[in-house]
Amino acid sequence: MKRRDFISKAGVAASAGLLTACGKTETGAVESVAAKPTETVHWKMVTTWPKNFPGLGTGANNLAALITEMSAGRLQVKVYGAKELVPAFEVFDAVSRGTAEMGHGAAYYWKGKHEATQFFAAVPFGLTAQEMNGWLYHAGGLELWGEFYDQFDLIPAAAGNTGVQMGGWFNKEINSLADLQGLKMRIPGLGGEVLKRAGGTPVSLPGGEIFTSLQSGAIDATEWVGPYNDLAFGFYKIAKHYYYPGWHEPGTTLEALINKQAFALLSEDLKSIVMNACKVVNQDMLAEYTYRNNAALKTLVEEHKVDVRRFPEDVLAELRRLSGDVVKEIAERDPFSKRVYESYREFREQAIAWHGLSEQAYMNTRSA
Ligand code: CA
Repeated sequence: MKRRDFISKAGVAASAGLLTACGKTETGAVESVAAKPTETVHWKMVTTWPKNFPGLGTGANNLAALITEMSAGRLQVKVYGAKELVPAFEVFDAVSRGTAEMGHGAAYYWKGKHEATQFFAAVPFGLTAQEMNGWLYHAGGLELWGEFYDQFDLIPAAAGNTGVQMGGWFNKEINSLADLQGLKMRIPGLGGEVLKRAGGTPVSLPGGEIFTSLQSGAIDATEWVGPYNDLAFGFYKIAKHYYYPGWHEPGTTLEALINKQAFALLSEDLKSIVMNACKVVNQDMLAEYTYRNNAALKTLVEEHKVDVRRFPEDVLAELRRLSGDVVKEIAERDPFSKRVYESYREFREQAIAWHGLSEQAYMNTRSA
């Protein structure tokens, strides 16, 4: 607060000085600074997360606080948890029609708008967090994402990443592919489609509804994120087995949705602040998950006696094969999907080649 007070006082002093200068010199530069809008802009941010939910909801809070702070209070963003203003899965439409100027969620929740949106969140056996950022920022991913959202008057931005997730919580052991038959599991996006091909029944539920569904037996298993978030939801109380790795979400990108008209009304510096605050939060959330997941895993294992298991190799191999089919079939549906798929596929090939010699080779060496 003190810092903001200081900034706002300094701003008033500078403006007063400029107004004097303006009267004396009337230079173009001074006029353009003096003509800056001074009114405060208020934005609402609706989210798909429970209010203040660790990592995800707090990431949205951080984004709002950062925009407010970086703009010295000229753009103030107020965050609404799921159901406070609109339900979780109505965030996209709410920002599209301007009910809120901004949203925070994940692009795979909008697969009903277009299946290709899932590429901008997570693809089974696809890119890691680091690779997603490479594709989005430098290899055309963000342009494709923006091209699709534009028709809904939306601008997307990467605004958080969970890193590699966990495979999920299961009420029974998964020892073979037969154990996936008839399995009712909360698993969103393309991972859900892969589970379906493997004989399971995928269910899509917002975070806030998972615990009771698992407890009542409406679902047999669920994935959510990783130890930090899963500990917060208390899944260890109702499911015995915690499987890894999260083959279905290897580096899920979370998104900020920005209403195009609201964005257009901002001054150039506020536009830059909004987009760069998204970049900061995109990195910071990943750093937070990297820091907190292992401590949470330790708590789950040592205090709550959770049974942590790796999926059997033949199960992973079959899921990998099915994932390849599912992802490729999306490309065949329409020209836009094909462009997204081709862009993603090309980058994935490069990432595998380079990371085979760098990240992957190093990690294998480090843990050998
Ligand atoms: Ca997940």
